[in-house]
Amino acid sequence: MTKNVTLIYGDGIGPEVIRSVVDIIEFLGCDINFDTQIAGLESVKKYDKPINDKLIESIRENKVALKGPVTTPVGRGFRSVNVGLRQEFNLYANVRPVKNFEGLKCRYENVDLVVMRENTEGLYSGVERKEGEEKAVSERIITKKASEDIARYAFEYARKENRKKITALHKANILKLTDRIFLDAVESVAGEYKDIELEEMIIDAACMNIVMHPEKYDILLATNLFGDIISDLCAGLIGGLGLTTGANIGKDAAIFEAVHGSAPDIAGTNSANPTACILAASDMLGYLGLKEECTKIKRAIEDIFKDGKTLTKDLGGNCGTKEFTREVIARLK
Ligand code: ATP
Repeated sequence: MTKNVTLIYGDGIGPEVIRSVVDIIEFLGCDINFDTQIAGLESVKKYDKPINDKLIESIRENKVALKGPVTTPVGRGFRSVNVGLRQEFNLYANVRPVKNFEGLKCRYENVDLVVMRENTEGLYSGVERKEGEEKAVSERIITKKASEDIARYAFEYARKENRKKITALHKANILKLTDRIFLDAVESVAGEYKDIELEEMIIDAACMNIVMHPEKYDILLATNLFGDIISDLCAGLIGGLGLTTGANIGKDAAIFEAVHGSAPDIAGTNSANPTACILAASDMLGYLGLKEECTKIKRAIEDIFKDGKTLTKDLGGNCGTKEFTREVIARLK
């Protein structure tokens, strides 16, 4: 049966990396119908809002979306499309696996962890206000419900993926009320999963420990902002933002994307690494039940890195986005 998927090309390098993904999925002959929608600046121009009704209807109907990066204006302009969509569809779990690729030289070996981030509240609740000209307040909202939901997702994921330890990241020594609620929720859920070890670590100490001994970590469980920052840090452990994917999962919908942003500095130059987006698409195929195609894509990417001859600029090579895509397709044949 044909599966409908909402597709957002996004800004900056988005159209280049999503093109790469569409070419690969078309080559595989997956029975997928892409319903292309716009978001962000393009949507503001056409509909006067970054998240338009057609996009929302499309995701509500299809329940699955593949999203290119959408630029979020810094310190002004419209609210983040990513944050808006995650809240609209209650995509409470943001799952970002970080694992070394064999053959790809980087500072660390044996990195194999997953950042599991609460995706709907925390400092990204969007409750901000000015109090006079020289003061602004941002509310960090933490609820028992959302904390339990992400904790349960993390423990279930650990069982399913045969992972042994969850490290909950917090700053409860300073943020005594909010992070106490988060930790209490995590601890109560952990009580139901005696087979999985729970460890708690203050976020700043965790940053140091993770860069010193990343191999000691398995699942990192965090509130929204800490999870966002730590996932870029972890991407750096295995070779950078061009490689890491993120799935935003809710009970009624899921959006798959790369961890990186729109990288306007390299947009339109055919130098973006499409790997993160390709792997996001592969995860999406797995989620849709197309396990064989999911594995095929992953293997092709792993083979490329094992060979080490076809690398994009961010990984020290000189291969363009289009050429890299052709290489992936060649290895699917
Ligand atoms: P945004 O405002 O959308 O978050 P940004 O440029 O601030 O964009 P990122 O897009 O996450 O943030 O990128 C940070 C840097 O990492 C970019 O300047 C770019 O050089 C590099 N980068 C990100 N993604 C890729 C990619 N897929 N391939 C190559 N380099 C990338």
